[in-house]
Amino acid sequence: MKCAILVKPGELKIQNVDRPEPGPNEVLIQVDLAGICGSDDSVYKGKMVIPLPRIPGHEAVGRIVSMGKEVKDRKIGQRVTIQPNFPCEACPICQSGMGNICLQKVRLGLDIDGVFAQYVKVPYPYTWPVPDLLDDETAVFTEPIAVAYHALLKARPKPGQRVLVFGAGVIGLIMVQLIRREGNDVFTFDLVRDRLWISEGLGATAGLTSTDELLSRGPFDLIYETSGASSAFDEAIKAASPGATIVILGLPGSPHPLLTTPIVRKELKIFGSMIYTTEFPEVLDLLVKGQIKTQPLVSGILDLEGLSTALERFADPKRVKTLIRIGI
Ligand SMILES: [Zn+2]
Ligand SMILES: [Zn+2]
Repeated sequence: MKCAILVKPGELKIQNVDRPEPGPNEVLIQVDLAGICGSDDSVYKGKMVIPLPRIPGHEAVGRIVSMGKEVKDRKIGQRVTIQPNFPCEACPICQSGMGNICLQKVRLGLDIDGVFAQYVKVPYPYTWPVPDLLDDETAVFTEPIAVAYHALLKARPKPGQRVLVFGAGVIGLIMVQLIRREGNDVFTFDLVRDRLWISEGLGATAGLTSTDELLSRGPFDLIYETSGASSAFDEAIKAASPGATIVILGLPGSPHPLLTTPIVRKELKIFGSMIYTTEFPEVLDLLVKGQIKTQPLVSGILDLEGLSTALERFADPKRVKTLIRIGI
């Protein structure tokens, strides 16, 4: 099969390798469409270190082409999307329902070969049938939407709360739509005007781009930090109202000193939110009902050969989500 292999940071090769054989509880999926995620960029640039060579990628839609003996409730030819983190299911953390933070979890495209390939094998409980109503370009967003939906469930907006989303990238633009659906007004903050315009098109009251704007439109009762910029966390603490909640989804690449005094003085509640647990079926349902728009988030669709270029241009401020069409 054809695949993109990261041989060392910055060097991605298109190669032919043996097609994987599914194990007893695995399905083999022929990948039709994949999404490029921030973690793919971090791995490509060497900011996130993983054993190489590796086929990266974890966001995908495809069809089941073969399966192991123990697979239940799945059919050959079925279109599925992938929940690409496989917790051990045995440790106390998993047993308490928090498999998202299992220390032994296996991450597709990081710990094992991922979806930037014609075929990928996945344990069947981590595949979700895609309803016929959803096209591939929509269903491929199931995973990032699950990330945002998990954060929403961590701290759900209460009626009348003023909400702010830091970062108008893919996750931020999904957060905006989830918050609007709850009935709350939501503001966005980003340094890139083009992304703020998209957020306004998706229902944000206003996109803010400077600390002055932030402080004049604030304070905010509930803040979601999706940008991963360490300075954003300082801004979030400043813009928070007394008693506010801050949910952090972004992962800053480097340590950053924490402004503890205002956290204490304002009695801020701060939550981390890591990927997802049981959100996939609800997310597919939201997509079927048309409650999350994904089309404005698609910046381009390339083939596998275009993956290196897309990763080189990952930081382009006008880009939101680039998709990779694979197929046979
Ligand atoms: Zn992702
Ligand atoms: Zn576990």
